[in-house]
Amino acid sequence: MSALRALVWGENVHEHRNEAVREIYPDGMHTVIARGLSERGGIDVSTATLQEPEHGLSAERLAETDVLLWWGHIAHHEVADDVVTRVHKRVLEGMGLVVLHSGHFSKIFRRLMGTTCTLTWREAAEKERLWVCNPGHPIAAGIDRYFELPHTEMYGEPFAVPPPEEQVFISWFAGGEVFRSGCCWRRGNGKIFYFRPGHETYPIYYDDNVRRVIHNGVLWARPEGVWVDSFDDCRNIPADDAPEARAIRPE
Ligand code: ZN
Repeated sequence: MSALRALVWGENVHEHRNEAVREIYPDGMHTVIARGLSERGGIDVSTATLQEPEHGLSAERLAETDVLLWWGHIAHHEVADDVVTRVHKRVLEGMGLVVLHSGHFSKIFRRLMGTTCTLTWREAAEKERLWVCNPGHPIAAGIDRYFELPHTEMYGEPFAVPPPEEQVFISWFAGGEVFRSGCCWRRGNGKIFYFRPGHETYPIYYDDNVRRVIHNGVLWARPEGVWVDSFDDCRNIPADDAPEARAIRPE
């Protein structure tokens, strides 16, 4: 069986504008996320960025992608709508999507959720404790009862998403807030995993537990079946074509 093909998409803007971010991620966050995935093995990993033609998400590229990972923040509005439509179609067909941190406000996530995806937030370098809600869930494999990140941006409830179909993590922050930080949905044949950690000014994507969860998330989101659906498939079936045509054909 060929290896799972993951594509890490990075907005790649903070890294060029903010010295603090460049110091942590000199080659871009997408590169570090990709490295974390390939180091664990079993996945062919490549990257794409906003700045590439078609944001690196041509139809050909997406057709060769099993799971797409998405990190965006300040340039969500720069993502072309036709590219979003293309990604959306691929998710419905069966491509997995792992949405990271501020990707909650990306066009693709909001379109898939159908809600505003708002949340509360605070940047105070506070501690986050991520509790495992279901130790039997494949995305939590290898994680203890909880793990901690010493310095994070806080995301708090209410998180305006449809109720997750599976809840893998819930976060507690030193300031007292809680947040549904690891959530799963399905849309069509595609599986979607939202994972909260990843603010650009903290070295979150070097953390071993974070890397493990993202790796698990990619494995979980891999396609199990693909259906290239379209409006053309919403067909009128003539009575003569029914499996029991004789039972319903007018006399
Ligand atoms: Zn952030």
